[in-house]
Amino acid sequence: MNKSISINPATEEKIAVYNRLTVEETQQKIEKAHQVFKEWKHTSYIKRAQLMNKLADELENNTDYYAEIATSEMGKTIGQSRKEVEKCAWVCRYYAENTKDLLQDNTVKTEAEKSYVTFQPLGVVLAVMPWNFPYYQVIRFLAPALMAGNTGVLKHASNVQGCAFAIEKAITKVGFPKGIFSNLNVASDAIEAVIEHKRIVAVTLTGSAPAGQSVASIAGKNLKKTVLELGGNDAYIVLDDADLEEATDLATLGRLQNNGQTCIAAKRIIVLDKIYDAFLKLYKEKMEAAKMGEPTNENTYYGPLARLDLRDELHKQVEKTIEQGGTLILGGKIPNRKGAYYPATILTDLKDGMEAFNEELFGPVASVIRAKDEAHAIELANNSKFGLGAGVITRDKKKGEKIALQLEAGSCFVNKLVASDPRLPFGGIKTSGFGRELSGYGIKEFVNTKTIWID
Ligand code: NAP
Repeated sequence: MNKSISINPATEEKIAVYNRLTVEETQQKIEKAHQVFKEWKHTSYIKRAQLMNKLADELENNTDYYAEIATSEMGKTIGQSRKEVEKCAWVCRYYAENTKDLLQDNTVKTEAEKSYVTFQPLGVVLAVMPWNFPYYQVIRFLAPALMAGNTGVLKHASNVQGCAFAIEKAITKVGFPKGIFSNLNVASDAIEAVIEHKRIVAVTLTGSAPAGQSVASIAGKNLKKTVLELGGNDAYIVLDDADLEEATDLATLGRLQNNGQTCIAAKRIIVLDKIYDAFLKLYKEKMEAAKMGEPTNENTYYGPLARLDLRDELHKQVEKTIEQGGTLILGGKIPNRKGAYYPATILTDLKDGMEAFNEELFGPVASVIRAKDEAHAIELANNSKFGLGAGVITRDKKKGEKIALQLEAGSCFVNKLVASDPRLPFGGIKTSGFGRELSGYGIKEFVNTKTIWID
C-alpha cells in the first residue's frame, strides 16, 4: 500500500490518509540529513541547547494540541497523552542542560604527553519507532542524537503518522535547520534500502522482537550499529509483608496505564502464597472498578487498544492461555461496542509453557502467579526470555533491594512502577534488546568514542 491511514481506535473512523514517500523522495531526505550534519556537527552545545529548550517550550505551550493528535490516533487517554508530551519536554531540557558535561573529554593518564577520550557525532541515525508512546519514543532518541551533533530520520509506525509529522513540524518551527530530522513515511518493507543507504550510520529500533530481528539482521549485514528496545513480560514480586492496598493499586495502574500497552507494564504479578488469596480478591475488585471508556473523557481510566487487529490478537492469546489450562478470573470477552476495546482481564493458574507466562500480552491482561516462597518467586520471575523491567513490593526495603539485584532485567524498581527517567539508563537484556537509551549511557550509543594520543 502506498498510503498510511490513521484510524481512531475508539470510533473506528478514518482520521487522515498520508501518501507514502517514493524511493527517490526517501533518498533525498536522507541525503539532506547528511548535508545538514556536515554543518550541524560543528555547532556549539550552547546553540544546540537553545534550540532544544525552544522545542521543550513548544511542547509545553501546546500540550493539548499534541496530546489530542496522539489520543485520536492511538487511543491513549487524554490525561496520559498530556503527560507524555510534558515528559518529552523534560527529556529535551535534560539533554539541553547536561550534554556538555555528559560528553566532556575524558583525560586518561598514560605514558603519552597527552591522551584522552573524546566523543564525536557519527552522522544520520535512523529511528524505527512504535505507536504506543508516539512522541516520547521519538524524543527519547532525537533529543540526545541532535544534542550530540547527529541528525536523524524516522520511520514511525504507520498508524501514527499525524504524531510523526507533528514532531517534524515542531523541529522546524523552533528553528532547527531544515532537514535535520525528517519523517520518512514508508512501509516497513522499504526499511532495508534505508538501512543500506550509505549515509545512514546507525539504527535504533523500539518495537516487537520480530521487527528488531529483521532490522538488526539487515544492519548487521551492513555493519551498522544498532540499539534495540523490544518487548517485555515484566514480573512484579509481591512479598508477604507488602501493604495490600498499595500493592494492588500499583498492580492495577501498572497493568492498565496506556491502555495496557506499555513495554514495562506489570504483566506477571508473582504473589507469595501467604497473601495470594487476599491479594487476588482485592486486585480483582480494583481491576473491575477501573473505568474503561472514551479516551477523550477525563474520567476514563483506560481506553481502547490502538488497532482492531491488535485487540483481536490479544484476545486470541487469552483464549490460548485458557485452552492451555489457565483460569480466567475477570474480563476476557470482547465487548459489544464500536472501537478496539478490551476489558481489564486477569488470568491465574499459569505455568511455564503457557502463552501468558511465556509471551508478551500487549493489552490490559494481568497474569497473577502464586509463588511458594521468595526463592520460588525469583525463579519464576527469571524464567522468561524477556528481561526489560521488574519490580518488588515489600515493606522491607533492604530485602527488596537484595531481590532486585537478583532479577534478570535492565531496570528493577522497589515499591514503584518501573519507569524511564532521562537521568537513568533504560533498556533490556535477553530478548528485550540491547544497548541503552537516556542518561549519559544513551547519548554515548551514537557517538564515536575516540582515543587521542599525543606522544
Ligand atoms: P512493531 O510492530 O514491531 O512496530 C514497531 C515499528 O517497527 C513500527 O514503525 C513498524 O512499522 C516497524 N516495523 C515492523 N516490522 C518491521 C520490519 N520487519 N522491518 C522494519 N520495520 C518494521 O511494534 P508495535 O506493535 O508498534 O509496538 C509494540 C511493541 O513495542 C511491544 O512489543 C512493546 O513491548 C515494544 N516496546 C518496547 C519499548 C522499549 O523501550 N523496550 C517501548 C515501547 C514499546 P509499521 O507500523 O509500518 O508496521
